[in-house]
Amino acid sequence: MERRVGILAIQGDVAAHGRSVESAGARAVPVLREKDLDGLAALILPGGESTTISKGMDRLGLWEPVREFAASGRPLLGTCAGAILLSRASENHPVPTLGLLDAVARRNAYGTQVDSFAASVDAGGPAALAGLRCVFIRAPRLEHLGDRVEVLARVDAAPVLVRQANVWAATFHPELTPDPRVHQLFLSPQEPNQSS
Ligand code: GLN
Repeated sequence: MERRVGILAIQGDVAAHGRSVESAGARAVPVLREKDLDGLAALILPGGESTTISKGMDRLGLWEPVREFAASGRPLLGTCAGAILLSRASENHPVPTLGLLDAVARRNAYGTQVDSFAASVDAGGPAALAGLRCVFIRAPRLEHLGDRVEVLARVDAAPVLVRQANVWAATFHPELTPDPRVHQLFLSPQEPNQSS
């Protein structure tokens, strides 16, 4: 049966994630209500503006349903603003967060929009992600990672793709490059090979 992957559709790059999900062989479904979470195989919180997305979550009553989704063990991926929303706390204009990832997200840690950049992941991570190019747009940094947080990729030594059990977070935008590996890994039942 076709797997349905939800994308929180309040604001941000929902359509680009949809294309990545479809090219990984699943069906993308916009999520705006608790009911939309029914029957999903996985959920993505896209990049955008975390203040705006968090206000939308207030309005739509989605904080608890998303926490329950995570508690059900199904995979959840937050990218950029989505990673901020997953964290246990945020700094530099803090926003309310879900507290599903044991890390503190420092918003806009690399500067403003003009400081957006692309960079390749550091060598020494999982072979499955070797050479991955990452696009950073007013990206956060994940700091004070708890023991249960596994770092899957780093750029200049900073964690950029992490995972805590079924909760994944990327500080970059995997949906904005044609490289499908992050979505494929996230949606695959297999674990990436860790070499560090
Ligand atoms: N700077 C944004 C925020 O704090 C995130 C940017 C992004 O998602 N590209 O929310």
